[in-house]
Amino acid sequence: MSFKPLLPGSTSASGQQITLGVMGGGQLGRMFVQAAQAMGYFTAVLDPDPASPAGLISHFHIQTPYDDEQGLAQLMQRCEAITTEFENVPAPALVTLGAHRPVAPSAACVAVAQDRVKEKSHFVQCAPISGVYPAPYAAITSAELLAAVPADLLPGILKTARMGYDGKGQVRVRTPEELAAAWAQLGSVPCVLEKLMPLQAECSVIVARGSDGQSVSFPVQANTHRDGILALTAVFDGAVPAALAERARASTVAIANHLNYVGVLCVEYFLVDDGQGGLDLIVNEMAPRPHNSGHYTQNACDLSQFEAQVRALAGLPLPTPRQHSPAIMVNLLGDLWFGANGVRAQPSEQPVSPPWAQVLALPGTHLHLYGKLSARPGRKMGHLNITAPTVEQVRETAAKVLALLGLPSLDAA
Ligand code: ATP
Ligand code: MG
Repeated sequence: MSFKPLLPGSTSASGQQITLGVMGGGQLGRMFVQAAQAMGYFTAVLDPDPASPAGLISHFHIQTPYDDEQGLAQLMQRCEAITTEFENVPAPALVTLGAHRPVAPSAACVAVAQDRVKEKSHFVQCAPISGVYPAPYAAITSAELLAAVPADLLPGILKTARMGYDGKGQVRVRTPEELAAAWAQLGSVPCVLEKLMPLQAECSVIVARGSDGQSVSFPVQANTHRDGILALTAVFDGAVPAALAERARASTVAIANHLNYVGVLCVEYFLVDDGQGGLDLIVNEMAPRPHNSGHYTQNACDLSQFEAQVRALAGLPLPTPRQHSPAIMVNLLGDLWFGANGVRAQPSEQPVSPPWAQVLALPGTHLHLYGKLSARPGRKMGHLNITAPTVEQVRETAAKVLALLGLPSLDAA
């Protein structure tokens, strides 16, 4: 894909305002729309949900299923270029769009990220250049392959090849019997069995790559998960050991290059014991879009991951982003509206807004709520970026925020 830049605020050959489209109306689509609109673009969202967070604020909201021919035709008619905000968008829909409009990332790249079997084999292909391997794994796509699983992959985690997110579609297994039962429980769909790794920490990297093949990467994020969902991201010197962070960045660029990727890509990594008192890096999975762990860029960098997505899609320059402030991002799940740990109210009770006024009284707190109409436990309602001039101060403010919200402290695993 290479084309003339779609300049902000200009009009197309047919005289309509340059409009950028996004498949999916969730929070990532909403923040893409906000970044595009800030630059003067018109936006269009395709999402069947009339109350979708991005649809609510976009110039155009096409409310059809993702594979609806008329909906896709309308989106193409409206838009000069189209991106996606989630990896499970039907691949044929992206193929259709890509035949008529620049689509970034391409259907082929999204197809790799949609399927753990393809994704892992892509990582293995990249490893000689990227220098980073995935955890030992086996693809389980038939009863024969299930029976042939090597014993040293156990204990492991069985993950469905498709449609998994936030730890859903995953079962931990210790024995061949548990493995067989778990595969049956998951409906005997194609899966990947991964060896359970001794995780010391997790990190991720955002890369933005333009259609000219030039890419830039953002500072590496240290991530804390709780119950399979991202809870906290910390980005400052020392959050990830510098040498490993550099390897993770280089690996992510290699993965993007090898796919000839255009757009924003996030790759997640594990830091594991190397058996010699040090740490090694393992590549886990990738997301063909901005990522929850990259939200800190909105307030801590001079380019956000969403503006980078807009620029890559529109063919605009992508200068190297600079982080100007140490940052901690706190994910705001619906649980908070019912009191973290059930302290304030039970899920059956009325949701209560968290104490935003007290949180926002702390310097360097930036609240992002996604406009979701109802809070539910486990639902991503928003995030809070915390910035400060020093690492010490950002940790101090984060500790106060976590206490106000009733969340576990920074160093709680
Ligand atoms: P998401 O898409 O929301 O990031 P997911 O459902 O696709 O999540 P993974 O990222 O593969 O799932 O796994 C979720 C979490 O489970 C990881 O962040 C990690 O904490 C843990 N995990 C996954 N695979 C392994 C492994 N092989 N060994 C140890 N822990 C693992
Ligand atoms: Mg993950």
